[in-house]
Amino acid sequence: MAPRGFRRSNGITVVQDPTDALFHEMPATALGRVKPDHVVPLSEMPPLLEKLVKEPAGQARPVPWNVKYEVEIAKGKAVTMEDMEKMDRIGRRSVLTCPDCGGTMWEVDDAKLVRYRCHVGHAYTSELMSIALDETLRRTLATALRTLDERVALATKLSTDARQRGHSQRASSWATEAEEFAQQATSIRDSIKRIDEMVARMEADATVAPPEAERMTG
Ligand SMILES: [Zn+2]
Repeated sequence: MAPRGFRRSNGITVVQDPTDALFHEMPATALGRVKPDHVVPLSEMPPLLEKLVKEPAGQARPVPWNVKYEVEIAKGKAVTMEDMEKMDRIGRRSVLTCPDCGGTMWEVDDAKLVRYRCHVGHAYTSELMSIALDETLRRTLATALRTLDERVALATKLSTDARQRGHSQRASSWATEAEEFAQQATSIRDSIKRIDEMVARMEADATVAPPEAERMTG
């Protein structure tokens, strides 16, 4: 569950130190949104969790219905029409589709944090959604680029064959086609490069240094 959901349910939040994480965006995004009770590297998480579960539990607070519902969906509860209506009460249906399952994504406003969640329970912050969409776009463009490169290769071969057989007019029309495909391929190559640069910038922005005190003890 998102740290914010835990917070609202009176839970203790522990976030992995982003400098220690394999994919730093997740803990870094969490740190950007809530002030967790603990920030520790992965190696210190087992002893910390062991210590925390031994501490006496505080006064139980009722869990907000929408937090509870989101947890139920995340556990893979079967989806009914009623569930879809509940999702409509939690958030707004967006035009975006889930990068994991292709389902509708609901936009869920959570204080200043906007999250996207499908009915299956895949959840993304707007930042991670943006990175996921860039990846989907990049994959789609890469497929188009591969197809165009194949078209260039084939048109070039057909042009050469036609020329060798003395069909100069057909040869030049294949050559023109090869050139047009090559131009389209170049513009897609540029788009992929721009996306890569954008993603690199976003990932650099998402890197947040852990709080000073924790870094010294960590
Ligand atoms: Zn999904």
